[in-house]
Amino acid sequence: MNKNLLYRRIPKVDVLLEDEKIRELTEQYSYDTVLEAVREELDKLRALIGTCEDEAEGIREIEQLSVRIQEAVKAMHTPNMRTVINGTGTILHTNLGRAPIGERHMRHIADIAMNYSNLEYNLEAGARGERYSHFEKLLCKITGAEAAMAVNNNAAAVMLILSTMGKGKEVIVSRGELVEIGGKFRIPDVMEQSGATLVEVGTTNKTHYTDYENAITEETAALLKVHTSNYRIVGFTDNVSIAELVPLGKEREIPVIEDLGSGVLIDLSKYGLTYEPTVQDSVRNGADVVCFSGDKLLGGPQAGIIVGKKKYIDQMKKNQLTRALRIDKFTAATLEVVLQEYLSEKKAIQNIPALRMITKEIEEITRDAQELEALLQQAELPAQIQMEPCESQIGGGSLPLERIPSMAVTIHPEKITTAELELRLRHMPVPMIVRTMNDKIVIDVRTVDKKWYPKIAKMLKEEEILE
Ligand SMILES: *Cc1c(COP(=O)(O)O)cnc(C)c1O
Repeated sequence: MNKNLLYRRIPKVDVLLEDEKIRELTEQYSYDTVLEAVREELDKLRALIGTCEDEAEGIREIEQLSVRIQEAVKAMHTPNMRTVINGTGTILHTNLGRAPIGERHMRHIADIAMNYSNLEYNLEAGARGERYSHFEKLLCKITGAEAAMAVNNNAAAVMLILSTMGKGKEVIVSRGELVEIGGKFRIPDVMEQSGATLVEVGTTNKTHYTDYENAITEETAALLKVHTSNYRIVGFTDNVSIAELVPLGKEREIPVIEDLGSGVLIDLSKYGLTYEPTVQDSVRNGADVVCFSGDKLLGGPQAGIIVGKKKYIDQMKKNQLTRALRIDKFTAATLEVVLQEYLSEKKAIQNIPALRMITKEIEEITRDAQELEALLQQAELPAQIQMEPCESQIGGGSLPLERIPSMAVTIHPEKITTAELELRLRHMPVPMIVRTMNDKIVIDVRTVDKKWYPKIAKMLKEEEILE
């Protein structure tokens, strides 16, 4: 084949810019972005012809050039971050954005975001206010703590606490609690960054009261307890509970800090889950400072919430680091409305999507699965579609061993492989992320809002996903 001939058939930049469709683009977007796309697509085409072994294919690609340019310009102006359907059954999926926010809450946040607000303005006094004021009282009321604040995420909260209370001094922590949380967040590394010196006590599986007692020196600034919410050591184990640690701290006048990780505010054992210590328990047991995530079991925005004794919270609010770690207006507004739901446990369960999904009863899930299955059957797709029991997970490093009985709609494609189907589902107009098991696609309906069911059926049919 004659590559030179192919290269010569490639239209020149100025010819392309005269193309009617491309001229329309320069009017709609800008001349510069279109020109950039033209150049990039031309480079790609030349590279493709360079490696192409098939003349007919080369010609086809040249003919497609204008379309490719149009697509590239449109893609540049279409958000890459978009809604996906979570069919994995993992409720707090870190890669999929952890806790979704409820629609009513989001409308309030949009209102705050689209206007000016009293974020840091005290309307009574007509003077500067505090961004924590919108949710501090609520947090105190719900948890029983004296004071509260929030930073960007719980990793930042741990950092701020240690920097404020332990910088240049020693903080004692059990070896069994030196955890790494997703995204390479390691407790020992964070401690180092904060300027506190880590003093490890005990062994991986056992730490005793006397281990803490013997490690206390003149230099000890705090005792730290980390709730190992993303893994469990089972078997021959022992650790010192916060209730046992607090009297030791009191006796030696050393504050006790607890990093709870998940930060659950409701006793989930009432809903059939394993008991997880609540923030209220930690405060009641006398921890001086407690921190936890806003977007794990709390079901709110990404945030690191710190509650505890006013003396320490005040010090943290004054720490220069706080300025770097501070939450924005979206988070402050979201925290307030989500926390308000916790004034009634019933409302929290109903109105916070993550909690609603976690506590949804199997009867309701089964009805949902029947509804989705029926819609997919009606679409007459070339696939075997069935309802099957499955298990959901909490995710987000919370309750790692927990499996919640759930119901799935499974799809076994007849014309394509299951792997191909999984890939195509990820490329639908609204991508759907699923698990595969036993050569079937598993859609756990626990994490799929009902509003998506007709859309899923429509996309599978109209986009010919199974053909
Ligand atoms: C998840 C977790 C963190 C980190 O929280 P982010 O909000 O993700 O920053 C810190 N400590 C513990 C124990 C955790 O489980």
